[in-house]
Amino acid sequence: MAVDETLGVVAGWLHTANRVLVFTGAGISTESGIPDFRGPNGIWRTSDPALATIQVYLADPEVRRARWRARLTSHIDDAVPNAGHRAIADLERLGRAEVVVTQNVDGLHQRAGSSRVIELHGTTREAKCLSCHDRMPIARVLSRVEEGDDDPACERCGGILKPATISFGQPLIEDDVERAMAEARRSDVCLAVGSTLSVWPAAGVALTSARAGHRLVILNDGATDLDDAAAAVVPGRAGTVLPRLVGAVRARMHEGH
Ligand code: NAD
Repeated sequence: MAVDETLGVVAGWLHTANRVLVFTGAGISTESGIPDFRGPNGIWRTSDPALATIQVYLADPEVRRARWRARLTSHIDDAVPNAGHRAIADLERLGRAEVVVTQNVDGLHQRAGSSRVIELHGTTREAKCLSCHDRMPIARVLSRVEEGDDDPACERCGGILKPATISFGQPLIEDDVERAMAEARRSDVCLAVGSTLSVWPAAGVALTSARAGHRLVILNDGATDLDDAAAAVVPGRAGTVLPRLVGAVRARMHEGH
């Protein structure tokens, strides 16, 4: 089926669905200038995932110092939502997307206007104490790093601080996973955008949807691990395809069919 034809079919599903879950991965933010991990220009082409584990972070103060220095100079806070994020927020405004479950840590869905976002892998906008779990705005910690405190400790308990993202080897927050899985079971369409669907347990959201007999729609610019489980696969760039898809949903709503 041609892409336009597939988009028409998917727009029909979104139009008539009782509840829609949008699941996103790093691919939706590449057009905002944030590289993904596993795509053709992904971070794992040039850096070693073994250095991103929680065990290494806990054991080696030099790794922590390097991480804070990198966070200080990172441009992630300068990134702005792109047409793909905005299209998903539009879908919510049209009453056609109840929730966004994201693997991303960049906060761009919220900045685009999506109001219910479950961040399965945490957020770079906050820091967290790995001992007492106190959370604080990342800016507070970064200003200490800037002033020379290169491996800042928790001001409450002295524990090790880390950006509030989930590193390899760190468990996800159980309540977030449960809420995401519950949404996958009750939503009759799951629109998965910009993810290889290969990172677990996050990819379980899409698989749970398909196994529950719901329609899993995959929009990605490359193959994913769950293409065979999908009701439809739409190839392409999120920032181009999503606005077209949302336009087609809007047109159906206006026509009232
Ligand atoms: P991934 O890196 O495994 O895969 C991204 C997929 O998106 C690839 O298949 C790639 O081909 C595709 N893609 C890239 N640009 C696209 C575009 N414009 N339109 C459509 N598809 C596009 O991403 P993942 O599966 O989400 O897993 C990586 C993990 O890394 C995530 O769990 C996340 O926690 C983390 N991460 C987050 C960010 C972020 O917050 N923006 C960035 C990098 C990595």
